[in-house]
Amino acid sequence: MNRRDFIKSTGAGGLSLGVPRVFSGENGVSASSPEEGSFLKVGFAERDITPDPGMEVPGGYVKAYEWKIHDPCKVRAMVFDDGRTRLALVGVDALIVPRYVVQAARKIIQERCGIPPAAVLIGASHSHSSGPLGMVRPGQYDYASPLVKRLAYEVSSDADAGYVERVQEEIVTAVCHAYSCRVETRCGFGAGNESKVSFNRRLRMKNGLTYTHPGLGNPDIVGYAGPIDPQVGVVGAWDRGGRLLGCIVNFACHATTSPGGFSANWIYYMEKTIRGALGADVGVVFLQGCCGDITQVDNLSPYAILQEERWAQFVGERVGAEAVKVLVSVEPGDATHLDARTKLLRINRRAPSPEHIRKSHELVQKDPKQVDMTDWVMAKEIVLLEALIAKEPAVEVEVQAIQVGPAVFLTNPAEMFVEYGLEMKAQSRFPFTFPVELANGCVGYVPTEEALGPHGGGYETRLTSYSNLEVSAGRQMVEAGIELAAQMTPGKVPTPPKAPPFSPVSATDWGTNPWSYGNVPPQVD
Ligand SMILES: [Zn+2]
Repeated sequence: MNRRDFIKSTGAGGLSLGVPRVFSGENGVSASSPEEGSFLKVGFAERDITPDPGMEVPGGYVKAYEWKIHDPCKVRAMVFDDGRTRLALVGVDALIVPRYVVQAARKIIQERCGIPPAAVLIGASHSHSSGPLGMVRPGQYDYASPLVKRLAYEVSSDADAGYVERVQEEIVTAVCHAYSCRVETRCGFGAGNESKVSFNRRLRMKNGLTYTHPGLGNPDIVGYAGPIDPQVGVVGAWDRGGRLLGCIVNFACHATTSPGGFSANWIYYMEKTIRGALGADVGVVFLQGCCGDITQVDNLSPYAILQEERWAQFVGERVGAEAVKVLVSVEPGDATHLDARTKLLRINRRAPSPEHIRKSHELVQKDPKQVDMTDWVMAKEIVLLEALIAKEPAVEVEVQAIQVGPAVFLTNPAEMFVEYGLEMKAQSRFPFTFPVELANGCVGYVPTEEALGPHGGGYETRLTSYSNLEVSAGRQMVEAGIELAAQMTPGKVPTPPKAPPFSPVSATDWGTNPWSYGNVPPQVD
C-alpha cells in the first residue's frame, strides 16, 4: 500500500463526504477538482473466505454444521476514486456481517488506504450456505446467567472467533487491493427485469392473518401478502480501452437455494453466468436488495419445488443473464458525483410481555425432546432477548447513502421487507436507486407496520433475540435513507452521442441520412 494515498485533511470520519478534500495527488490525478481532466478510477478485488469443513453454518436459531464445500465463499470489493472522494462497496458471501466486524474493518481500511468509514459499504449476500459470522458473538452473553450462557453458547448458532477475524482481514485486504489496482474507468448504469425467480413468501390466509411459507397447495391461502421487486440493478465499469473490469449487481431475493456444502449460494451461478458471457476475470460485487419477505419459493406454484442445485442455477443464471443484458446495453461514460453520507439512529427493541417471559422460562427448563421443538426454540429466544434488553434496550442502526453518478445505494442493516425497498425507489430523485439490506451490521427482520398489525404475523414478525426492533423501525430507516439521498445531486446518466441534425441529402449506406432507395411508394406492378 502506498502511504502517499492517505487523505491528509481532517474530517474523514465525519458523516458527510460531500465537501472537497485536499490530499496528495498521484498519477496525474488532480486532488481537488475531478472535472479538470482527471478520470474516475475504479478497482476490483476478491478474496476467499470459504469456511473450513465442520464449521457452523448459521441461518437458523439452533446450531447446524457443514462438512462439504460446493464453491468458494468470497469477499468481493469495488473501489471508486475520482481524485477527491473515495468509496468502497463490498459484498460478502455471508448470512450477515456483524456491526463490530464492519467497524473494525472500516478503521483499518481508513488507516491503510484512506477511505473514510462512512464511505465504506459492507453488505452480506445473506447466503444460507456460508460461514460462522453469527448469530451469537463470541463472549456476547458472558455477563448473563448460567442458563442464558448455556442457551446462547451450547444451543444457538455461534460465530467462530477465528473465522470472524479471517473475514475481517479479508474485507480489508480486498478493499486495499481493489484500491491499489484502480485504473481510469468509464461507468455505465442500468436496470433489468427478472420476475420469474423471486416470490413473496408471506401469504394472506382465510383466517385473516398472514403466514410465512404456509406450504404449496394449502387450501387456506388467499393470495400473496406483498409484492416482489424484479429490478436487477447494475453498475458496470470499463477501462479506457473498453474492456469490462467488473460490475455491481443489486437484486432482492433470499440466498436460500443452498446447493449442498458451503457456497456463495445462487450468487455463485450469477457470477459464473456474467463471467461466462463477458470475461473470466470480470469482478462481480453482489449487494442484496430488500428481501426480508422474498425467496425463490412460490407457495402458489402448481409444480414441485426444484432440486436445490438446480434451484441455485435457476435463480443465479437468470439474474446473471439479466445483468449481462444490462451490461451490453448501457453506454459507458464519465461518471461524476461520488458522495457518501451516513445517519445513525437509535431504535428501541420490542420487549416481550412479563407473561411471555414467564412462560418461556418455564418451557426452556423442560427437555426439548419432550415438548414441541419449535416452541422450545422460540422460548429460548425470548430468554435470550430478555437478557439482551436488560443490557441494551435500544440498538444503534446505521443508514448510509452511497452515490456513484446517477445511482444511489441506500443501505440498512436489516432483513428489510421488499415494500420498503420499493418505497425508497419511488421516493428517490435518482435515476437509479438501489436499496441494500444487511449492510454495515445486522438487526434481524424488519417487517412493515402492516405485517406487525392485526392482519399480519408470520415468521419474520416473531419476537427473538435476532429480530426485535420496534414497529416503526422500517419507517425510520426508510425516512433516514431518503433524507440522505435528498441531500445529494444526482449525476447524469451517460448516453450515446446525440444524432446529428436531419440532413435531406440521400445516402446509399447505413448512415443517418435518408436512404436513396427507401423513399418510394409500394411497387405492386
Ligand atoms: Zn433471512
